[in-house]
Amino acid sequence: MGTSKNIPYGRQSIDEQDLKAVTDALTSGWLTTGPKVAEFEQAVAEISGVAHGVAVNSGTAALHAAMYAFDVKEGDEVIVPPMTFAASANCVAYMKAIPVFADVDPKTLLIDPAEVEKKITPKTKGIIAVDYTGQPCDYEALRKIADKHGLFLAADGCHSIGGSLNAKPVGSLADITLYSFHPVKHMTTGEGGMAVTDNAEYEKRMRIFRNHGITADFRQRDGWFYEMQDLGFNYRITDFQCALGLSQLSRLSEWIERRREIAKMYDAEFTAIKGLSPLGKQDGAEHAYHLYVINLEGEKRSEKRKQVFDYLRQHGLGVQVHYIPVHLHPYYKDNFSTHEGMCPIAEEAYDGLISLPMFPLMEDEDVHHVVKTVRAALAEVSGK
Ligand SMILES: *Cc1c(COP(=O)(O)O)cnc(C)c1O
Repeated sequence: MGTSKNIPYGRQSIDEQDLKAVTDALTSGWLTTGPKVAEFEQAVAEISGVAHGVAVNSGTAALHAAMYAFDVKEGDEVIVPPMTFAASANCVAYMKAIPVFADVDPKTLLIDPAEVEKKITPKTKGIIAVDYTGQPCDYEALRKIADKHGLFLAADGCHSIGGSLNAKPVGSLADITLYSFHPVKHMTTGEGGMAVTDNAEYEKRMRIFRNHGITADFRQRDGWFYEMQDLGFNYRITDFQCALGLSQLSRLSEWIERRREIAKMYDAEFTAIKGLSPLGKQDGAEHAYHLYVINLEGEKRSEKRKQVFDYLRQHGLGVQVHYIPVHLHPYYKDNFSTHEGMCPIAEEAYDGLISLPMFPLMEDEDVHHVVKTVRAALAEVSGK
């Protein structure tokens, strides 16, 4: 190998414009909920093709608020995919409801509508689809299933902001879509998240939930009187975070363009290498590429993945594995009786997954360096 070089799997970009936006907000007199929150909500709703945005202090809080908006109750079942970050299912557990895991499509590792249909029972309340790696799920099929059975359809769009399906933007494909603005995601507010929806009733419920379950209507009437109508949380985000979000949002489409270029370079290389494959594409999807995932093929993949992963880490690549299937975590096994064998496709895929560096600041030479290092890792491992 040539010179060693450290490349993380993701990295945020903060520029002068961001710094100015934050300092302007800090000196404006507002610290928490102020004009930048509303402005940011409107701007994100707009790129999502819907009317409303409710900004909160994490993607997880946005998922939780959505479950509240849908009135998910104790004992309800909500169908989720296993191939995601735990928060996509945790929000169901927060409501004392039951996450039911539906397996993924082997090509894309996105939730498989046919598997969703098999998991529906009289207790099913809704579906949370997750746009794993950044391409939208098959929302046309999911919408048909949801409508047929009277279910809500939520989209965990934490990977897919800025993507689209058949020319419809992410954010407009489900009843509520959730975003995260954690630094590793497409754009950041430090910590932060948002729920976007076209439904004014859901919007109202999420606003109340974000602020302890308190309605603001009375406060406006009397000046002091307020009423806590339900048990909510303090999930508010600050004005200066939303100022950062607005500044970041102005560069989102440029960043996604760069992510797509990087993915194209990776695809060209990795489709030609034996022993691994890039993930397949969802028909009609414009991918936002939060992650670039390769899947090792063949026998003893789990062992081989460990060796390749270790080699890449030792050679300065901040590779990751997304994800340990959620139903295999001890919390889910202990509390929801989940087990190995429940979602065989996700479990089998997991054994071979590696997420490679993917962020807009990567130079072409970084991409070539990653490809070269992956080739060297495979050669080393198959030579053993
Ligand atoms: C990041 C992420 C979340 C959680 O977002 P936070 O802002 O970290 O709370 C939820 N779902 C998915 C798929 C994510 O990638």
